[in-house]
Amino acid sequence: MVTEAWDGKIFSGGFVAGGAGTSPVLAPATGETIASVGQADTADLDRAVRAAAAAQPAWAALPYTERAAVMTRAAALLGDEPERLTRWLVPESGSGQGKAGFEAMLVTSELQAGAALAAQPYGQLLRSMKPRMSIGRYAPVGVVGVISPFNFPAILSMRSVVPALALGNAVVLKPDPRTSVSGGLALAALLAEAGLPEGLLHVLPAGADVGAALVAHPDVPCISFTGSTAAGRRIGETAGGLLKKVHLELGGNNALLVLPDADIDAAASAGAWGSFLHQGQICMTTGRHLVPRDRLEEYAAKLAQAADRISVGDPTDPANALGPIVDQGQLEKVHALVGSTVEAGARLRAGGTHEGLFYRPTVLTDVPLDSPAWREEIFGPVAPVTGYDTVEEAIDIVNSSEYGLSVSILTADPFAALQLADRIKAGAVHVNDQTVDDEAVAPFGGTKASGAGGHFGSSVNLDTFCDVQWVTIQSDIQRYPF
Ligand code: NAD
Repeated sequence: MVTEAWDGKIFSGGFVAGGAGTSPVLAPATGETIASVGQADTADLDRAVRAAAAAQPAWAALPYTERAAVMTRAAALLGDEPERLTRWLVPESGSGQGKAGFEAMLVTSELQAGAALAAQPYGQLLRSMKPRMSIGRYAPVGVVGVISPFNFPAILSMRSVVPALALGNAVVLKPDPRTSVSGGLALAALLAEAGLPEGLLHVLPAGADVGAALVAHPDVPCISFTGSTAAGRRIGETAGGLLKKVHLELGGNNALLVLPDADIDAAASAGAWGSFLHQGQICMTTGRHLVPRDRLEEYAAKLAQAADRISVGDPTDPANALGPIVDQGQLEKVHALVGSTVEAGARLRAGGTHEGLFYRPTVLTDVPLDSPAWREEIFGPVAPVTGYDTVEEAIDIVNSSEYGLSVSILTADPFAALQLADRIKAGAVHVNDQTVDDEAVAPFGGTKASGAGGHFGSSVNLDTFCDVQWVTIQSDIQRYPF
């Protein structure tokens, strides 16, 4: 639990002990140190889990109104002053100011939904063959381990933390080491100010090693992980071997299908937003644009125009819509994918260059279906476009990805698109919108390599963050033949 306030610039020793010393928090746009954060080791993890397990039963036993009140107060604090998060999101995660404001709004909305979740029915009255009351009810698991990524650090932590707490659990949160403040410490400070009792939320700024120790910890029965498919597979293996409840929200390679009757101007605007928002570093980023072959040229020209118009630079300047790629390693990966896809035969229509970590929004057309930029999740501001001849063929291409997170269908006939949605293997299908979307009250989760083990969103959270208990009650002790 964060106990210190910080002055807005330097925050040291965020976690109780910081057994692994302190590390600087760097702004990717400038390379400047913007904070200093205590780093947790596995001894800190043990202490955090013990404290969380000790605090949890009293929290779960409180009237639901008290858990809801903490969420309501935190939502009000953040709603009134989104800068509590945006002043960290912009420099620390390289978020454009629009994206940062949008993310703070999503966190506020998650907190409001958390307050409502605490008040919802938490079970069912069942029919029974015996004269008794039979109830299926959800009980908190105890301590939930949350591991989150760098890209939308605040909401992707809070999407697990808020429902877990609202349902009566304690949480140990390990954010991405590049976003320890906006993905952890600033969130814990907000909840502490809103009255969350001591011991219920612990933030462990640390790398994957402490994340792996959290997954394996014997007193953490439930893991909620958001991140890459590769890490998710390893976490799933460990958690599965230990018979833990594990919830994995993983990568995506999301298709935007432009149907022959679609308005191409509007489609290109939606496509540009879907591919370039936050430098394409979103699991739901539009990674594959499918356009009727005879409309490809018109679509590609408009998409390239949109790409060329976008200003990219230090996001502390509100004139820049896009900021930097998170780090050098990720930049090199993006650039290599673009280069190898051009070598495979794609045409570069916009972008493909960078200055430092600032990558220009990039449009590739005639992208071969077996090229790296089509097959893989890029996690950069790159829009790969290809043509199709029939809608049947397009649906097959949409479903041919190993991922199944979000798909968009753009058309003048939304009800026909609804029938196509029946055939699409993805956790979300958006008709007449692009692929990036999430709401606290909607069920969110991926299929195939995009996720397993549960969903987020209002009552669905009961399955994800609770155990089910069957309770029966009879007035007298049942007698048996023995
Ligand atoms: P990553 O998997 O490398 O890291 C995510 C988090 O997991 C970090 O906190 C990291 O320290 C930790 N971690 C990594 N390996 C671990 C291990 N073996 N055990 C325990 N913890 C471990 O992810 P990234 O590349 O930094 O983030 C981007 C990825 O996240 C993309 O693939 C993106 O699609 C995915 N993502 C998915 C969603 C979703 O809702 N489905 C949302 C955002 C991002």
